[in-house]
Amino acid sequence: SQAAQEQSTGISEINSSVGAMDQITQQNAAMVEETNAATQNLLGINQTLAEPFLIQGNEVHVTSSIGIARCTAETPTPDTLTMQADLALYRAKEDGRNCFRFHSEAFDREVHERVSISDDLRGAVERGELCLYYQPQVALGTGRIVGAEALLRWKHPQRGLVNPAKFIPIAERTGAINVLGEFVISEACRQLREWIDQGLAPGVVAVNCSASQFKAGPDLVDFIGAVTELAGVPPAQLEVELTESVLMEVTQQHSELMARLRQLGVRIAIDDFGTGYSSLSYLTSYPFSRLKIAQELVFDVTRERRNATVVRAAIRLAGELGIECIAEGIETPEQAAFLVEAGCGQGQGYLFARPVEASEMTALLRERREQPADKPQQLSLAG
Ligand code: C2E
Ligand code: MG
Ligand code: MG
Repeated sequence: SQAAQEQSTGISEINSSVGAMDQITQQNAAMVEETNAATQNLLGINQTLAEPFLIQGNEVHVTSSIGIARCTAETPTPDTLTMQADLALYRAKEDGRNCFRFHSEAFDREVHERVSISDDLRGAVERGELCLYYQPQVALGTGRIVGAEALLRWKHPQRGLVNPAKFIPIAERTGAINVLGEFVISEACRQLREWIDQGLAPGVVAVNCSASQFKAGPDLVDFIGAVTELAGVPPAQLEVELTESVLMEVTQQHSELMARLRQLGVRIAIDDFGTGYSSLSYLTSYPFSRLKIAQELVFDVTRERRNATVVRAAIRLAGELGIECIAEGIETPEQAAFLVEAGCGQGQGYLFARPVEASEMTALLRERREQPADKPQQLSLAG
C-alpha cells in the first residue's frame, strides 16, 4: 500500500541517517575535524527526522537529540570520546531535546562542578553546613511583619555561602532533596517554637517544597505531622510553598496529599504564581491559603502594562477565592505603591528586608514587638 511504501521509504531514510549518525559517533568521529561538516550531517539527520512518518495511517513525529564530541590531540582514549559525546547528548536532552550539542571544555568544567557539588552535598546536613535564612513578609499597609519565608543556605567550607539556585536543582536530581527538605521543615519548626517561646512568633513561617519532595508521597505529610507535634508548633503557623509547576502536574495522589496537609491544619501557598501555565481549575480545586505573585511579574509592574494587568487579575482572583495575596520581589517604593493601590495585602522583597540569618530575623521581630501595632514600621534594609 501507499502507506506502507511511505513507511518503508521513511524507515530506509531513518536507517541511512542512523547509519550516518553511527558513522559520526563511532567509527569516523576521529575523522570529522570540521565542526561545520558535522553540523551539515546533523542538520540532514534532523531534517529527515522532522518529516512525519506514516505508520498504519497515523502520522508519527519523532525528534532526535544528538551529542557530538570531536577527537583532538588531547583526547586520551576512544572511551573518553564516547563519554564526551554521551555528556553532550545529555545536555541536548536537558536543553529541551530535538537539538544537538557539542562537547566543550567549559561543559566539562560545569559537569565536574556539578559532580563535586553533589559529592559535597552528601553529608552536608550532618556536618551542620546547612542553615535557614528568613525573609520577612509584611502587611503592605503598615509594613508590619506578618510572616517569614525560610530560605535554605549552604555554608560551604570552601565555596562560602551557596544559594539554593546552585544546589537545589542538583539535589533534586540526586535525590538528596529529601534529606534537605526534612532538615528545612525540622529547623523551621524548631525556630518557630523558639520564637513562640520568646513571644516573637510571626503569624506564619513558610517553607519551600520542591516537586520531587512532594512526589515522594505520603511520607512528607507524615513527617510534617510528626515534626510539628514534636516541636509543639500549631500547624496553622506553618505554610508549605508549592510552585505552580508542581501544581500543574497535580495527580490524584497529589490532591490527596494536599487534602491531608490541610487536614493537619498546615497552610499551602502557591509560589511564583503567574510564571507557569496557570490553570484556573486547580486554583479553585485545592484549599490554598495564600497566593504568591511571582517576582518576575512584580519586577516590571510599573513599566509593563501587560504585567500590571496580570498582577491586578491575580490580586482580584485571590480576593474572589478568599485567600491571602502576597507579592514577591518588591524592590522599589513605586512597585509597593502600585500593589497597595491594586489591593494586594502583603509583600516581600528587598525594599522591606533581604533574607537574613535567624538571629537577625529575631532582632527584626523584637523591633516589631516594641512597635505599637498601628504605627507604620520602618524596616531596616539589612545586608
Ligand atoms: P522563592 O521561593 O521564590 O524565593 C524567593 C527568592 O527571591 C529568594 O531567593 C529570595 O532571596 C529572592 N528575593 C527576595 N526578595 C527579592 C527582591 O526584592 N528582589 C530579588 N531580585 N530577589 C528577591 P533564594 O533564597 O536564592 O531562593 C531561590 C529559590 O530557591 C526559591 O525561590 C525557592 O524556589 C528555592 N528554595 C529556597 N529555599 C528552598 C528550600 O528550602 N527548599 C526548596 N525545595 N527550595 C528552596
Ligand atoms: Mg518560596
Ligand atoms: Mg517565589
